[in-house]
Amino acid sequence: MPVERTLSIIKPDATRRNLTGRINAVFEAKGLRIIAQKRLQLSRAQAENFYAIHRERPFFNDLVAFMISGPVVVQVLEGENAVAHNRDIMGATDPKKAAPGTIRAEFAENIEANSVHGSDSAENAANEIAFFFAGIEITG
Ligand code: ATP
Ligand code: MG
Repeated sequence: MPVERTLSIIKPDATRRNLTGRINAVFEAKGLRIIAQKRLQLSRAQAENFYAIHRERPFFNDLVAFMISGPVVVQVLEGENAVAHNRDIMGATDPKKAAPGTIRAEFAENIEANSVHGSDSAENAANEIAFFFAGIEITG
């Protein structure tokens, strides 16, 4: 399987509950390496830009308000098949539907405050990594 990189965000519900280390421990236990990481307070414009693909969805305004409600931790994860592997580790968007042992099953509060974001394709991963990180900030 190819070694890939994916963009992960530990969302404000998780930073608020001091879960960064426990979530990172799951990534590492499951074989993903955290090769870049920083904690940020997103502006409204940055959150709207990041989630622009969802602009027409009914939950867009609430989602943006949630994503700027506290700090996030943005990170680049690297490993075999990292994009799909991270989506498996995260679990379904709605924690009620997330498989046992996934991050969202264990930690998410609800379908919106669901603790983590992960890129959903290799192409989006490259774009999302470039959104948050300069090349000099990423080391393998
Ligand atoms: P993410 O993109 O954050 O990794 P995802 O790919 O599982 O999550 P998307 O459909 O891309 O899910 O939705 C983006 C985010 O919007 C979700 O993670 C969640 O925070 C929020 N969201 C999605 N669906 C709903 C909904 N029905 N009601 C409220 N918030 C939602
Ligand atoms: Mg998504």
